[in-house]
Amino acid sequence: MTTIPVYSPDIGAAEVENAVDCIKRGMLSGTIGGDYNGEFETLVSKQCGASHGITTTSGTTALALAVACIGVGEGDEIIVPASTNIATALAVTYTGATPVFIDSESDTWCMDCELLPSLVTPRTRAIMPVHLYGHPADMDAIMDVADRHNLVVIEDNAEAQGANYKGRATGGIGHIGCLSFYINKVLTTGEGGMLVTNDEEIAARARLLKNLAYSERDRC
Ligand SMILES: *Cc1c(COP(=O)(O)O)cnc(C)c1O
Repeated sequence: MTTIPVYSPDIGAAEVENAVDCIKRGMLSGTIGGDYNGEFETLVSKQCGASHGITTTSGTTALALAVACIGVGEGDEIIVPASTNIATALAVTYTGATPVFIDSESDTWCMDCELLPSLVTPRTRAIMPVHLYGHPADMDAIMDVADRHNLVVIEDNAEAQGANYKGRATGGIGHIGCLSFYINKVLTTGEGGMLVTNDEEIAARARLLKNLAYSERDRC
């Protein structure tokens, strides 16, 4: 019987060389000692069409950081797909806000945007589309509802790095995009994630919250 693996990391000589170089030069935490991390943030955010990238320890922490950055809490609602990795909903519950689940389209399995307007209430603060199994959610319909109700859109792009929606890379279409570099994702760092955004204020807040509110200058 032939087994078709769900994932199979492709680690070549360059990856090994760079990992060894990184360890030897002591670039172990954040940007301390050098800038492999910063270069990675630039490359991935650019690929998503976003101007800022902030690495995190996982896709889950990228999502949690994104929701923390928009300042929601108890009593607030965020619309989340009913079918997704549990990390999407956990990012909401960590803050005390309530995930409001939206059903899926039968063909793409992404959120059914026709249902979106019926789920928006005066407490809704954000929508978290998930580009499930690499298929982009209908971002035009989502951004339209978000614009009309002044909602933040956080794309869970953990499964869709490199995907395109109408010629635009996913992850950089909403206000914030989140990626995962877990071993079974499109690109892996072993563990890891990233928050990407075109919003300078969100980027600054994400950098601060990620680093226990130390400034880069203070922490050594
Ligand atoms: C994998 C995944 C996550 C979580 O990423 P981790 O790096 O494993 O924490 C979040 N959302 C979706 C849709 C995922 O597939």
